[in-house]
Amino acid sequence: MRARPASFGDFRCAHCHMIVSSAHVLSGVNNRNHCPYCLWSCHLDLFSAGDRLSACKAPMKPVGLTMKKGRNKYQREPRGELMLIHECTDCQTLSINRIAADDDSGNVLAVFERSFALTPHVQARCREYGIVILDSADTEIVQVQLYGRCAEIPALNWT
Ligand SMILES: [Zn+2]
Ligand SMILES: [Zn+2]
Repeated sequence: MRARPASFGDFRCAHCHMIVSSAHVLSGVNNRNHCPYCLWSCHLDLFSAGDRLSACKAPMKPVGLTMKKGRNKYQREPRGELMLIHECTDCQTLSINRIAADDDSGNVLAVFERSFALTPHVQARCREYGIVILDSADTEIVQVQLYGRCAEIPALNWT
C-alpha cells in the first residue's frame, strides 16, 4: 500500500525516499514532478504536464537530456531550455520535463553522461517522440546551462 502525500506538493520520492517538501514547489517550475535529489519522476501525467490523468503511477527514470526549443521568436536564448528526458519503468512512456533551479546539478550532469550509453532501443524511441537526445558533442552547452556562462566549469573527473 502506498502512503498518500501529506499535502499537495509534498511527496516521498519513490526512488531515493527523500521527502520532497512543498518548499521545493517554490523552485521556479509550476509542476514539480521530479525529485530534486535523484531526479526520478513518477508517471502521473497523461496528455500534458500537470494534468495528473495517468493511471500508471510507476517511477520514471531520468535517461537523458534534450533541448526544448522556445516557440517565442523573441526569446533571447536561441538554444532553448535544457530538459530532462524521463522514461517510465513500467509502460516505457517518455516525457520531457523542465529542470528546476534546485535540482542537483551534479546529478543532472551524471544523467547526461550516462545517456551516452543509452541502448539503441531507447534512442529509437526518442526519435519516435521527436526528442533529440543531447550527446557528448553538447557537453559545453549543458555545462553552460547548468553552471552559467561565466561560472568556473567544475572538473569532470569523478575520481
Ligand atoms: Zn529521489
Ligand atoms: Zn507509465
